[in-house]
Amino acid sequence: MADACRIKVLPELLVRKIAAGEVVERPASVVKELVENAIDAGPTRIAIAIEDGGRQLIRVTDDGCGMTAEELRLSVAPHATSKITTEDDLSTVSTLGFRGEALASISAVSRLRIVSRSVESNDGFELQLTGDELQSAQFAGTTPGTTVEVRDLFFNVPARRKFLKTVSTEVGHIQEQFARLTLAYPRIAFELSNNNRTVHNLQSCAHRLERISRFYGHELANALLSIHRDERGVGIEAYTALPAHSRATANWQYTFVNGRYIRDRFVQHAIKEAYRGLIEPNRHAVIFLFLTVDPATVDVNVHPTKMEVRWADSNSIHSQVLSALRETFQRANLSPKLRFHSTPLETAGDEHSRMEQFAASVKTAIPVQPVSPVRANEGHPFASEPTSRTRNDFPASSRIPTDALDIWRQLYYPSTDSKSSPLSPAPMESSFEPSPELPSTRRLDSESQQRPRAIQMHNLYLVVESDDGILIVDQHALHERVMYEQLRSRLLQGTLESQQLLLPESLSVTPKQADLLERHSQLLRSLGIEITPFGADSVAIHAFPVLLKDADVVAFMRDLLDHLERSSAGAQAEEVVHEILDMMSCKAAVKAGDALTAEEIDALVQKRHLIDRATSCPHGRPTMLRLTKSDLNRQFKRT
Ligand code: ADP
Ligand code: MG
Repeated sequence: MADACRIKVLPELLVRKIAAGEVVERPASVVKELVENAIDAGPTRIAIAIEDGGRQLIRVTDDGCGMTAEELRLSVAPHATSKITTEDDLSTVSTLGFRGEALASISAVSRLRIVSRSVESNDGFELQLTGDELQSAQFAGTTPGTTVEVRDLFFNVPARRKFLKTVSTEVGHIQEQFARLTLAYPRIAFELSNNNRTVHNLQSCAHRLERISRFYGHELANALLSIHRDERGVGIEAYTALPAHSRATANWQYTFVNGRYIRDRFVQHAIKEAYRGLIEPNRHAVIFLFLTVDPATVDVNVHPTKMEVRWADSNSIHSQVLSALRETFQRANLSPKLRFHSTPLETAGDEHSRMEQFAASVKTAIPVQPVSPVRANEGHPFASEPTSRTRNDFPASSRIPTDALDIWRQLYYPSTDSKSSPLSPAPMESSFEPSPELPSTRRLDSESQQRPRAIQMHNLYLVVESDDGILIVDQHALHERVMYEQLRSRLLQGTLESQQLLLPESLSVTPKQADLLERHSQLLRSLGIEITPFGADSVAIHAFPVLLKDADVVAFMRDLLDHLERSSAGAQAEEVVHEILDMMSCKAAVKAGDALTAEEIDALVQKRHLIDRATSCPHGRPTMLRLTKSDLNRQFKRT
């Protein structure tokens, strides 16, 4: 027995069952594959019926091109597809399917029945298989199109069946797939029924926003900013929610390329970056983003479910998505309206908001896939080549200290906002002193003769008349944003203004911290901080940013070291620069409780027109609230 060969070729059905595991994970994957096939057949209508969370039955019916008898027989064979024929076709594929493995996989693990009639033929044909075994093949009277029925999923794979979750969890997953597919194809009418009860009945829509509205309710749809752009071969259609509509999870970010739902870290990073400072760091934007690109520039054949993609030029995709969103935010009025009732999304109770309730169940049912952190050295959007360098293995080259700053600058250069920002050339201000490019105090004074002055209340809030009502400004939050934008544009151009300390401050540091300070010396110099080693375990600080002239130098440096340590622990490099700028602007800004002069109040309030993202502070909290005239009129019953 010793020489018996232990290696055996597995029986074909077992091979098929193993392969099926990659494509068919749960009922929702069957729904996805069957509906994608239906979409590829060019239908006007697709109906989906499920029973028992899809375990007992999944039926997908379409009125697309259908199949001839011969095509139907072939459709269930492994690696049989009508969508590509040669390897070259892979780079131009415009259909959702092309791997020819879905029907073969599904047939290996279920009882499958397909009835189809090609649009060109007078007869329909029916095929029945059980766990891959042909049960019957016969003519069948039917209208053109295809019906695929999958019963008893995983009846012959007990291990898989055992791992299925509760019916409501599986229904949740199916509904999520349904949402993705129907959002991508608004012109196709879709119906979903569960245990013979209609859950969704979506008519064909000429406009995508109409489908979003029918799905998620008018109020969310009304809070969406539309983006349509077509540049450098990349079409961007997006509906992105005002910051006030942010959510606790990223489940509300729907991203597609060429009609296919994807999860892509470059696109997700661009969205996160665009909303940075507009929503709080632990919140997530709501966005529906549809990219159209030349199929040759995106490889979807990375994983059997095709949810991951590889871009020919990921930097370009990243920067185009980022700039499309940024430009939209610059034009939009993002300041939240003060509401007399609860927020719109909480009150959505119309018949279109069933998806809302359902989504709440999905949120608990579907673990959110964490966005893989985009690290400075490991596949960062801007890293030219992935390097083999590990995080703790920095070569002692002089290039390294520039990383965080370089990456951060690339993110903002050549963004239009840095160039067009009226604050860019202005010297840093440490208070409200006017700078040459800003309106002078005198001009502000003469302007303010026509305009009612802002009034300070509780040494905290500034109240001011706006075109459409009244603004209530948080003085610290707005000044923090002003400072942040000034610091940002200055740092993009070079270094911050620095001032020599009369007496150097000494700071005791651990060897690791000393190393961090050395590695980040360029960043520190750019921030206006001058440091030299001083003895074995301390450093001397000789110069400090003018802006922070009142700050506690040592306490500030301790905080800064904490941030740098985060970056060496793998935080995104550009994020660390943001955090340091946040910290500086917070320290430099007027505080809640500071009494301001009338001129200071006016100068601050006017500056909201001159900076980007004035409606939220760098941490994403609102800087001002809007009370509109029409809301007031309504409340005073003046209408
Ligand atoms: P793929 O979609 O990758 O080609 P599938 O196994 O999902 O592979 O389907 C195999 C083939 O069966 C398809 O290429 C298509 O020709 C045919 N087919 C499947 N479903 C339908 C349908 N609903 N309408 C028309 N043809 C279909
Ligand atoms: Mg397919």
